[in-house]
Formats: sequence, C-alpha cells, structure tokens
Amino acid sequence: MGKTWEYMMADPQLRWIGPEKGVIHIASGAVNNAVWDMYARSRRKPLWKLVVDFTPEELVASAAFRYISDAITKEEALAMLKEREAGKKEREEKVRELGYPAYVTSAGWLGYTDEKVARLTKEAVAAGFNHFKMKVGADQANDLRRAKIIRSIIDDPQYLPADIPARDPSAEALRGKNAGPTGAVLMIDANQVWDVPQAIEYVKGLEEVKPWFIEEPTAPDDILGHAAIRKALKPHGIGVATGEHAHNRMVFKQLLQAEAIDVVQIDSCRLAGVSEVLSVLLMAAKFGVPVCPHAGGVGLCEYVIHLSLIDYIAVSGTMERNVLEFVDHLHEHFVTPCSINKHGRYNVPTNPDEGYSIEMHKASIAEFEWPHGSYWVGAQAAKSQA
Ligand SMILES: [Mg+2]
Repeated sequence: MGKTWEYMMADPQLRWIGPEKGVIHIASGAVNNAVWDMYARSRRKPLWKLVVDFTPEELVASAAFRYISDAITKEEALAMLKEREAGKKEREEKVRELGYPAYVTSAGWLGYTDEKVARLTKEAVAAGFNHFKMKVGADQANDLRRAKIIRSIIDDPQYLPADIPARDPSAEALRGKNAGPTGAVLMIDANQVWDVPQAIEYVKGLEEVKPWFIEEPTAPDDILGHAAIRKALKPHGIGVATGEHAHNRMVFKQLLQAEAIDVVQIDSCRLAGVSEVLSVLLMAAKFGVPVCPHAGGVGLCEYVIHLSLIDYIAVSGTMERNVLEFVDHLHEHFVTPCSINKHGRYNVPTNPDEGYSIEMHKASIAEFEWPHGSYWVGAQAAKSQA
C-alpha cells in the first residue's frame, strides 16, 4: 500500500499541480481510502482489523515515508511497532469491551441560545460524555458566558447519569486537562479566526473557564505561529490543538518538531488517505503527542473510529488520554453508521463486510449527488419558478 501511495503522489508531472496540497490532495486521499476500503472488504475485515493484524513490517510498508525521515525513519517505526506487538491482543479485547473514548461538539456551536446550549450540554452529560467542546472567537464576553453555562452543568454531579460515577479529576488520564470536580473537560475551538498575538490575548481572557486546549487558534499552515501561541499560553495552563486543516504529513512533522501542539487532530479525508494517516500516527507516537482525530462532518465519524483503533492497538498503545470527536449528525445516510455506548465511547466496528464503514445508502446518493440528485434538481426547479 505504501508503494501504491508513492505511485500516485510522486509523479513528477502531477507534482506541478499538487499533490500534497489543495483539492488534488483531497482527491488523492479519496482514491487511497477507496483502495484501502476494497482491500479490507476483500479480506472480510473492518479496515482497523486489517491493519492491526499486519506485522510491523507490513504496517511500515503501508505508510507514506517520503519527506519525513528526518522525524522518523522506517527502522525507528519498525522498532516502535515491534515493542507494541506484545500488548496488541489485550488492547484489542479491552477496547472491544469498553469502546473508544469520545467527546461531543454538538452542544457548543456559535449562534445557539443559552437555553439550547444548556439543554444540549445536559443531554451530552446524560449520554455519558465527559469531554465537551465549544466554538469561540466571535465575541469574548459571549464566549465566557456560554462557557460558564457549560461548566456549571458539566461540573455539577447532579446531572451525571445515575449509573456512572464522577471521574477523579486527579487521575492520570485527565492530567493537564483542567478537569473540573466531576472530571469533566472543556475544549474550545476558534476555527482559525485570529492572528497570533490576538489569539494569545483572547484565549488568556478565557482562562477562568479552564479549557484544556484552544483548537485552530490561527492559520492552519502557520507552524511557528502555533508554537508561539502554545508557549504564551503554557503559563496559563491552556494547550494548543490543530490538524483538521493540516494538509499533509510534513505540516504535522513540523508542528511536532517545533513543539507547537499538545494534540494532533488528523482529518481522514484531508490527508491523502490511510497511508498518509499511518505516517502521522507513527510520528505522533514517537513524539509522545496524543492523536484526537477531527470528525465534525458527514461520514467523518464513520472513518475515524478505524484510525483511532489502529493508533491504540498497534501504534501508540494508549487511549487513556485520547478522545475522538463525535457529532451526532447525518449518520442515517451510511450503511454501517458508527455508534456510541452509554459511557460516551465509540463502539468498535465488527461487520466483516463494512471495510472502512463509508458506504452511503443508494437512496442518499440519488437524492444528494451534485448536480443531478433529486434534491438539487428540485431546488433548481423551485428557483426557476420563483
Ligand atoms: Mg475544529
């Protein structure tokens, strides 16, 4: 699979117009993901299981190593994977039983009324979650008010489900996350709105609501900018996360080398498929930075559970500090949708025919495929009548 990836990405003529950036990289990722999906189906395994059953040699041969050997060599990756071999079976059993830890973004979108934020937060607590993310950046006073509403609910034991005890905020899994008295963690996400000095000042102003990290504080390509923000926020106990717009493994390499981030947020469709994701998982494990994939869009949750399982079982060997994004949105369009257990954790996909879990229902494609789907044709007809 590594050779297939190299064949697609290293053609000298093609490199004039990408890949490694822009829409051509995303398109290359779609092809790479489709090949992986077919590979897994042909072996009658969900994708994660195909990869964790690889030998360390097979896994290394499947990853994209071009341009990253200054951060990790194939030999180093191999040695690391061999070290993790012994515990693989046990970890697979553990995650099948417990599920993979998740967090919710659904409660804290900008533009929701305070009542809606409060209601959605209570629902998320009742569903077993203990990591919560809200959007910030439009107005600091407004952000503070909404964050205080969220904290007042997640820190209050009365809202916890009867059968789930409060987590111990001093537990190792919550170290450095600014967990409140019930072990709840708040994260904030700015979606790239600030310049570097502005990001620092704005986020300092949110210190009292104790976020674990600020996500995407500035331009996603600005590696040294992220490093400066992280350095400035460190005395305030706030970390930095990014990656949903980091468009190739070299951006992640530099973010790690520059000690610019506390959390690696890979995107399954922006990187050029599973092969490139594997190389980022390997680098993150070497640098000891947890991977918490981005999944705020249609079908992304279906993909990323596979990647986090690969990370836990075969690569980093740990899930205790990781949380995988979950958005309860549009899963009904997928043949094998992901699911969450009552402890707010992803269930492990087990259908031997689901591959990478990304097949959409034929009816959804017939309705929404641009521009000939019935939804768009109908919208056109309504427009011309108006
Ligand atoms: Mg985000």
